[in-house]
Amino acid sequence: MRLANKVAIVTGGGSGFGEGIAQIFAKEGAKIVVADIDGKAAERVAQAIGAEGGAARAVTADVSKDADTKRMIAEAVDGFGRLDVLVNNAGVTHLNQPLVEVTEADFDRCMNVNVKALFWAARHAVPVMRAQGGGSILTVASTAGLRPRPGLVWYNTSKGAAITATKAMAVELAPEQIRVNCLCPVAGETPLLASFMGGDTPELRAKFKASVPMGRLSTPQDIARAALFYASDDSAFITGTALEVDGGRCI
Ligand code: ADP
Repeated sequence: MRLANKVAIVTGGGSGFGEGIAQIFAKEGAKIVVADIDGKAAERVAQAIGAEGGAARAVTADVSKDADTKRMIAEAVDGFGRLDVLVNNAGVTHLNQPLVEVTEADFDRCMNVNVKALFWAARHAVPVMRAQGGGSILTVASTAGLRPRPGLVWYNTSKGAAITATKAMAVELAPEQIRVNCLCPVAGETPLLASFMGGDTPELRAKFKASVPMGRLSTPQDIARAALFYASDDSAFITGTALEVDGGRCI
């Protein structure tokens, strides 16, 4: 029980990586707020955790909105009494296309969900963690923020910003024992995959997998195990890092 007595919020917890993170955190004893813009998905994951004997509450929240993020943090504090771990996992991408063809609406959505959400989450979570004497903030960034593939310029840019925000928040919050780290996964079998590959055909999948030295995509378990390390006291002296979870340096 590496997260006994801890309370964690997982954004985008209704599917993919976020669902995997919420599940493993609950198994390790954390009480979970599953937050997702898709309220039904969040409810499904919270109920599944409850059915396994864990404690979870679902919140419908658009993490790019101040009021929703405030409500999400309040759900943890009012419902479970504290907030130890915040996982900023909710993410979106834009269509795989030349940078000049990306619409302003897609650009804004990418920046709002992948970057601005970190701003709102920090504004509401940090005062709570500060009052408790510390906490752990973990953002699911992407290898795209380190080694961009073509066709996703503004997505790549948003993930690069998320990595820099992690390092910047970490140095500022370290004296308060609030740790801030991020994961840089290679894509997994999630709805976002088609955007990364520029479509979804057997040929594109084979090519994409071949670009990962270990020869496969990431799974929610791969990401969740790394997230567990950052959420737990096993990483008590680690902050400002970007951990690649990518089967070897992929191009
Ligand atoms: P991955 O797991 O690869 O990040 P998914 O598409 O499976 O990709 O998961 C992303 C999750 O984030 C989805 O459950 C989606 O509903 C959620 N999400 C997307 N945008 C927002 C948002 N603005 N606020 C909260 N959750 C969001």
